[in-house]
Amino acid sequence: MTALTRFIRDVPDFPKPGITFKDITTLIGDPAAFAQSIQELSAPFRTERIDKIVCIESRGFLFGTPIALELNAGIVPLRKPGKLPYETIRHEYELEYGTDALEMHVDAIEKGDRVLIVDDLLATGGTAEAAAALVTKMGGIVESFVFLIELSFLNGRSKLGGHKVHCLIDYDGE
Ligand code: AMP
Repeated sequence: MTALTRFIRDVPDFPKPGITFKDITTLIGDPAAFAQSIQELSAPFRTERIDKIVCIESRGFLFGTPIALELNAGIVPLRKPGKLPYETIRHEYELEYGTDALEMHVDAIEKGDRVLIVDDLLATGGTAEAAAALVTKMGGIVESFVFLIELSFLNGRSKLGGHKVHCLIDYDGE
């Protein structure tokens, strides 16, 4: 496991009892740790053509934006319904109780764009799966998913269609 693990703060019972929240504010608040995380998240893609970094609201923006600058790619924000100003496409996905949705501007991805999908954390995979559905619907190619943290005991990867997954910190038990 990478030394970055010590910058992640566990917050028990947030946002509800039984959930251990992985707080990344302690990592992004440390300039050296944050810089290291961006270098390590970007590293495998430096020799590849990446056109767009698709970042998931809202902690995905914090990591996706500096990665886009590192890789000379554009940024595509995915947001909760009603937040984006222009015409959007939407993908709904299941939560434990009920559904949620992500939206993307209709012209944000061009056919054949090579895309990284970035978020802070992979849990059950529903959010990342929805992001991939929006990208592929517009003709984009998912080159890889990129996460700072993976909760591998939740097996979110099984939802990610066999795409490459690059992550720096793995928790394999609660
Ligand atoms: P999922 O769709 O289950 O993979 O959930 C991923 C999204 O929920 C990401 O945007 C995470 O930021 C957030 N998330 C889920 N579980 C946690 C957790 N234990 N700690 C921090 N964020 C979480």
